[in-house]
Amino acid sequence: MTRWLAMILTGALVFGDSAPALAYLKFGVPVRGQNVAVKWAQAPVRYFVSNTGVPGVTPTDFENAVGRAFATWQAVPTASITYQLAGVTDASPGSDDGASVLGFRSRPDLDRVLASTSFLVDSSTGALIESDIFFNSAFPWSVAAGGETGRFDLESIALHEIGHFSGLGHSALGETELISTGGRRVLSAEAVMFPIAFASGSIAGRTLKADDIAGISDLYPDGDFSTADGSLSGRVTKDGQPLFGAHVVAVNAASGLMVGSFTLNAQGQFSIGGLSPGLHIVRVEPLDDADIDSFFDGSVPVDLDFRVTFFDRVVIVPKGGDSGEIALTVVKK
Ligand SMILES: [Zn+2]
Repeated sequence: MTRWLAMILTGALVFGDSAPALAYLKFGVPVRGQNVAVKWAQAPVRYFVSNTGVPGVTPTDFENAVGRAFATWQAVPTASITYQLAGVTDASPGSDDGASVLGFRSRPDLDRVLASTSFLVDSSTGALIESDIFFNSAFPWSVAAGGETGRFDLESIALHEIGHFSGLGHSALGETELISTGGRRVLSAEAVMFPIAFASGSIAGRTLKADDIAGISDLYPDGDFSTADGSLSGRVTKDGQPLFGAHVVAVNAASGLMVGSFTLNAQGQFSIGGLSPGLHIVRVEPLDDADIDSFFDGSVPVDLDFRVTFFDRVVIVPKGGDSGEIALTVVKK
């Protein structure tokens, strides 16, 4: 028997305390006592676009912009996921009708939410049944090729939400600063799946980064992904105790590309997959550039009281294998 379960993707994250997740964060649901990654079983994944526009974005503009964003994820050579436009619909995103719908809705009450993704999961298997993405028409939107001052780039925001639509959670690879009017301004982001969008006018969010590519490839591995790439794993301790929720970043020494993960279990273990083989620099840092609830569901306290620490040697990631457990020790701020 199939039981359906509705979950909201913005923020809430469910995880078990068994094996640590690979790079970035995946969503998980408990299935018969195991934590199973939420992902699509069908291929291609079919989606509908709703036939409503907003000032500056016609329904056709909308269809084309989200189509480009889907195509960007589909073009990742090491990932197998494919998407297909099923048609235009009068339905709104957010109704649990078995059809995945992307469209505008006006939610002026959600004054910090540009867009969000909700989904239905078959809780007996973890398979996605439906993902809906709503774009908040209370904000100004643009599909201009070079972006438009004062308006948010629909393609960029769609690219982030389609990551959720596909089963990816947030990445913490970004730097922000607090702004006087409240909220945070993004200074840099090394992942489209960073939870805070670039400012209006920016089109920087149209391009996937190494962390996003590792994430989608890990969920939907294609070709020689698992034999060509490698992983890096270890554990983080403070005062001899395992540390939960530490952000661990692997930086490829040759390319500078970064992939991040977290310590996600009671043993303080992490594993970062989807890495290009070679030498990596490893950094561990507290999660301090975004709200904790963008990553964790609050069931386990996240320790932020430690200094940014680099592992004291360069780590070799082998082709098709793992580095072997490295031990990172951090100290209080
Ligand atoms: Zn998000």
